[in-house]
Amino acid sequence: MKQHDAMYIDGSWRPAEGGGVIEVVNPADGRVIGTVPAGSAQDVDAAVRAARAALPGWAATPPEERADRLAALRDQLVARTGEIADTVTAELGSPLAFSTAVHAGVPVAVCGSYAELARTYSFEETIGNSTVLHEPVGVVGAITPWNYPLHQIVAKVAPALAAGCTVVLKPAEDTPLVAQLFAECVDAAGIPAGVFNLVTGLGPVAGQALAEHDGVDLVSFTGSTAVGKRIGALAGAAVKRVALELGGKSANVILPGADLPKAVAVGVANVMANSGQTCSAWTRMLVHRDHYAEAVELATAAAAKYVPGEKIGPLVNAAQRDRVRGYIEQGIAQGARVVAGGPEAPDAGPGYYVAPTVFADVTPEMTIAQEEIFGPVLSILEYEDEDDAARIANDTVYGLAGAVWAADDAEAIAFARRLHTGQVDINGGRFNPLAPFGGYKQSGIGRELGPHGLTEYLQTKSLQF
Ligand code: NAD
Repeated sequence: MKQHDAMYIDGSWRPAEGGGVIEVVNPADGRVIGTVPAGSAQDVDAAVRAARAALPGWAATPPEERADRLAALRDQLVARTGEIADTVTAELGSPLAFSTAVHAGVPVAVCGSYAELARTYSFEETIGNSTVLHEPVGVVGAITPWNYPLHQIVAKVAPALAAGCTVVLKPAEDTPLVAQLFAECVDAAGIPAGVFNLVTGLGPVAGQALAEHDGVDLVSFTGSTAVGKRIGALAGAAVKRVALELGGKSANVILPGADLPKAVAVGVANVMANSGQTCSAWTRMLVHRDHYAEAVELATAAAAKYVPGEKIGPLVNAAQRDRVRGYIEQGIAQGARVVAGGPEAPDAGPGYYVAPTVFADVTPEMTIAQEEIFGPVLSILEYEDEDDAARIANDTVYGLAGAVWAADDAEAIAFARRLHTGQVDINGGRFNPLAPFGGYKQSGIGRELGPHGLTEYLQTKSLQF
């Protein structure tokens, strides 16, 4: 696997000041596949200085030229699809078909959408006797997780660059190689030196240094709610802009008139995708009591198709595997009924595998119905009527995504209005790279994707006449 023993700062690869390295492990077999430098606070400082120096030039670059560079970046991502998919499969463990379609494919769509938005967005508007200028916020510190490693990078870097901001990226420790590949694509796309900088390193060291740096105007973070709260507190103390994409515990609400087999099949697929390591996964299936037994049967059969090592990959590392197994054991201890999978390791070789697991008889107050598990674990809950379903669906600290299935769209939409969550799929739904994505409640602050994602990286100045 190709890798750099260096950081990408100010348009070139340079060795880290720190000295330490991070080992990158293939979770399908536990083998070390490479190392990257563990950046220090000095490395972060050098990267922020480069980003500050590049800011005036990039902010003043006409949006059409920024659009051209983003289109070139998109072309690089297309040209290197195979390498990107291989890299994500090697460091995250996802099946190659999923890596190709989703981990490599979605960033192409998102980057392309920001090339287009940079060209078409109105960076100036007239309101009465004022002209309002939408100006870049400045230097962005981007801190990203490992679960959709390239998507989460592109969902921050592409709108930041479209807005005229410059960026320092600190990617996740588990998946730094695809971040290095992305930096190569930025370089090949002719994006000027210092506009994008990459510092690999540990969260509490390099991530913390970036979040605290005075030269960063906006911190955009995706990851756990625990770390998000710390970053939000730091940003609040410094009166600095912050965007947080955090965890979720989304509900898949199946109303009585819905196509039950379809709703259950899509619901199980949604939870098992990426081995359950998706913040927006519909981890709670809510079914009317009249259809509950049938839904449990359908979900059990659907889960059996996710054969570990074939259709479903391992978890990203041993700690996550142990954490997820711990939740499965807790579910059993609290009285939920395992109808598929369970805590025992599946027969899939030496990797960090967890059996695709379905729980029936889950009640809303159980830990497995409240906390984000981040593994291939579905909880099926029963409700009595729509009020009960809405109450259960909203009864978590999170509010990221969800789904509603009903006899028709109008009924599903009426129910979706009652959900305290940032995104709802109506009778299925298809991914829209332009639709805003982000959380209500503790799922976060701010939105990613499309024009709403672009405005996160802009600030307004009004000129009165
Ligand atoms: P994490 O929040 O620890 O890591 C996310 C990013 O933040 C990484 O780049 C990490 O290096 C960095 N980081 C960690 N500590 C930091 C600090 N003190 N200051 C600045 N940056 C810091 O998440 P994780 O440990 O990778 O995963 C743990 C849990 O988080 C998962 O089980 C899951 O529940 C949740 N998670 C959610 C998402 C999401 O998309 N919402 C993604 C990944 C993980």
